[in-house]
Amino acid sequence: MKEISDLPTPAANIEGNVWPVFPGQRAAMMLSLLFQLEQSQWWPPERLQAAQFRQAAELLRHARRTVPYYGERLADFGWRHGKPLTAEIWSELPLLRREDIQDAGENLHSRALPKGHGKTETVSTSGSTGKPVRVVATELTAAMWNAFTLRDYIWRRCDFAAKLVAIRYDYTQSAVYPDGKQANSWGRDNGAALPTGPAALLSIMTPVASQVEWLARQRVDYLITYPSNLEAMLRHCQAEMIRFPTLREVQTMSELLKPSIRELCREVWDVGIVDMYTCQEAGYIALQCPEHEHYHAQAENMIVEVLMDDGSAAAPGQTGRVVITHLHNFASPLIRYDIGDFAEVGDACSCGRGLPVIKRIAGRVRGMVTLPNGDQFWPFFSNRKFNEIAPIRQYQVVQKTLDSLEINLVAERKLSPDEENRLRTLLAERLGHPFAMTFNYFDEIQRSAGGKFEDFKSEL
Ligand SMILES: [Zn+2]
Repeated sequence: MKEISDLPTPAANIEGNVWPVFPGQRAAMMLSLLFQLEQSQWWPPERLQAAQFRQAAELLRHARRTVPYYGERLADFGWRHGKPLTAEIWSELPLLRREDIQDAGENLHSRALPKGHGKTETVSTSGSTGKPVRVVATELTAAMWNAFTLRDYIWRRCDFAAKLVAIRYDYTQSAVYPDGKQANSWGRDNGAALPTGPAALLSIMTPVASQVEWLARQRVDYLITYPSNLEAMLRHCQAEMIRFPTLREVQTMSELLKPSIRELCREVWDVGIVDMYTCQEAGYIALQCPEHEHYHAQAENMIVEVLMDDGSAAAPGQTGRVVITHLHNFASPLIRYDIGDFAEVGDACSCGRGLPVIKRIAGRVRGMVTLPNGDQFWPFFSNRKFNEIAPIRQYQVVQKTLDSLEINLVAERKLSPDEENRLRTLLAERLGHPFAMTFNYFDEIQRSAGGKFEDFKSEL
């Protein structure tokens, strides 16, 4: 495999040993996981599914025995450990919803975590609707997370000596402008299994013009940020004619990536975008295929199902709810967890990987507009169209009732009544309904607690 032969040598761990290297324990574990992932990605789908069900059977047995929530919920479930799990049996397991996790509280946590899973840590995801979901992560889930991060770099054929720059939510609140934060590796958690070049981080809460000024001082090779932030940076750089000559690729995460942003990035910076699909509760759901713009589900980390309203599996071309089962979290098992996203299933991929294909991530339920006749869909707005009407720097459309919207704007000046009317017409056309619209003006539209931004949200 070309990707594997290009990888850096692990950090040496024994005096006098430089090649081939005897890695440290942590690095050895990471390399062993990568070795297995390298092979399993090429397995045919049937073999992958069989392996998933063998792992899921262990998870199910453990959950029933030691997690009060599942002990009760699955008391009457017909399957017993020792009997093979099949797709049919699996489809009879009840779905776990966000509210179930919130209601279950401590009852979703195992009373007897097997020793090898290591220390635990509580992960709290704010969502954007308020009430957080708490999940307990383990050293084992963290190791899986790191292994898939490395797979992502390998798939992208990253130059491991390059500089990785992140502009994202900063939990430590220390990566502030004008300095940001510098580090000597992309992430120290992989135990130097694959040594990397330096990294830099800047808080997403930094104003866009300052982000761009900071980035110009970083000699950036790879940039990672959220799509909405990238779009704002690109618009700024387009207007100011700013390019980053060393930049090779941009990676996006955490929010929906609109196809138009890929084009804009090519146009303004002349580099491509690689997107990924993750969730804080369970890690990597899907990575962009190395050869296409669609995604491959990370089948070794989780079972990813896409379900129609009647509970059946969506076929290629169909869009359904994303339901995940984290195969390795034994501290707070997430079995058939409906994470609130929708995605379209794709056909088998010509790259040869057997990992299931997700053609498109359609978005969150709360990102859907609802028309008075009951129709629902995910709206796409065009910044360009907005800007043809007036000098609008940022916007957010909020559906308040079945018949009304609030349009929040950051503009260079208040719009004239004529401009507001043209915007009304544009939005009514886009959405297919003449909503009542109220315009609000702001200096800045705030991101949610986790740093995400939505250009449309429904409060129905
Ligand atoms: Zn592929």
